[in-house]
Amino acid sequence: MGYIEPAPLKDEKNPFEAMMSRFHIASQILGLDDEVYNVLKSPAKQVIVSLPITMDDGSIRVFDGYRVIHSNILGPSKGGIRFDPGVNLDEVKALAAWMTWKCAVVDIPYGGAKGGIQCNPREMSSGEIERLMRAFTLAMIEIFGPDRDIPAPDMGTGPREMAWLMDEFSRTQGMTINSVVTGKPLVLGGSLGRTEATGRGVMVSALAAMEKLRINPYKSTCAVQGFGNVGSFAALLLAERGVKVVAVSDLSGAYFNENGIDIQAAIDFRNGNNGTMDGYSGAEKIEGNDILELEVDVLVPAATEDVINSQNAEKIRAKLIVEGANGPTSAKADTIINDKGIMVAPDILANAGGVTVSYFEWVQNRLGYKWTGERVNRRSDRIMKDAFDNVYKTSQEYDVSMRIAAYIVAIDKVAKTYKFRGGY
Ligand code: GLU
Repeated sequence: MGYIEPAPLKDEKNPFEAMMSRFHIASQILGLDDEVYNVLKSPAKQVIVSLPITMDDGSIRVFDGYRVIHSNILGPSKGGIRFDPGVNLDEVKALAAWMTWKCAVVDIPYGGAKGGIQCNPREMSSGEIERLMRAFTLAMIEIFGPDRDIPAPDMGTGPREMAWLMDEFSRTQGMTINSVVTGKPLVLGGSLGRTEATGRGVMVSALAAMEKLRINPYKSTCAVQGFGNVGSFAALLLAERGVKVVAVSDLSGAYFNENGIDIQAAIDFRNGNNGTMDGYSGAEKIEGNDILELEVDVLVPAATEDVINSQNAEKIRAKLIVEGANGPTSAKADTIINDKGIMVAPDILANAGGVTVSYFEWVQNRLGYKWTGERVNRRSDRIMKDAFDNVYKTSQEYDVSMRIAAYIVAIDKVAKTYKFRGGY
C-alpha cells in the first residue's frame, strides 16, 4: 500500500476504530491496493432517523434509529437490529462492517449491514416496542427488501420484533413478503434451528479449536459470559458434548459452581424469572466481571463489545476464547492475548452460525419450502467447520492470529469480488 497512514487507535472503547485497526493490519498483509482499501473502509450508506412514538402514558418520545449498510459487494446486505440504550452511529458502523467480514468468512452471498435504535426495551411495554419497530420499518421502507437489505434480530430484539417488521413491510407492498427479514417465528416462515444457530456455531467453533489445542472436551471446563440467546445455547450445546460449564453470567452478576452448572435448569430458571438469573441458587454468586478471569479451558464472551480490554487482558487464564459476541475483545487487548499464547476463535468466525441459518431461512422463504431441523443443522455445522479450517490454515500460512487470518480471508474475498464488479 502507498500513502495510507496506520489506522488511528485513540479510544479502545470505539468499536469502529477497533474494527478498522484489524482491517488495516490484514489489508497490509494482503498488500491491498489503496483504491480497494478506501472503498472497503467506508460504509456504502448510513441512514439516521428520528422516530416519534406515543408512549403508554400518552406522552410522545423521539427515538434515534440507525441503519448502516457497510457493503453490498457480495450481495444484498444482511445484519440485525439492536435495541439498546448504548446504540450510537460508531457502534452500528462497526457492527455493519463486521457483518460484511462475517458473511465473507462463511462464504454466503451477502454484504453487511446493521441497524439499531437507542432505547431500553427492558423498560418499555410490548405495545411501545411494537410501535417503535413498525415506525422504524416504515422509515426504512426504501432501504429494506429481500434483494436489497435483510434485517434480523440482534441484542434486545427477537422473533416477535421480526414478525412486526415483516407485517409492516408486507402491508406497504400489498402482499406477504417473508424473505425481507430473518429470525422470524416459525409460523411466519422462520427456519428450524435459527434460534439456537449462533450458540450452535459457537459450539462447533469451540470443539474445532479444542481439537487443535488437544483439549479433551470431556475433561474441559468453560465459562460463559452473557446468558442471552447466544450464551445460553452455546453453554447448553457445549455441556451436551461433555464440557463442564462452571460459570455463567448476565447483567445480574456471575454464577460459579466448580462441579458444573446444570444449564437446562439454569435456562428454565431464567425463563421463569423475567429473563434474568437474579436469585439463581444452583451456584455461588461472584462479581460479574470476575467470570472473565476464571481458570478455565474455554472462555465464551457472549454479551457485548470491549469486555476483554487492556485493563483485564493480562488476567485472562483461559487457553481458548470463543467469541459469541461481536467485538468482545478490544484491539489493544489482542496483542496481550496473543502474547499470552491464548487462541481466539474470533467473532466474525465463531458467531457466524446465526447469519448462516438466516441465509437458510431466506433461501427457504424464496423456495416456498421448509427444511427439516436436521438438514439445517447438518448444513450449518459443515459451513462453520469448513470456515474454521480455512481460517486456521490461513493463520498458519501467514503466521498470524486466528483473528487477523479471518480478516484476511474476508477482505480477500470481498476485494476480489469488487475487482470483478469494478467501480466507476
Ligand atoms: N445479529 C446477528 C449477528 O450479529 C445475526 C445477523 C443475521 O442473521 O442477519 O450475526
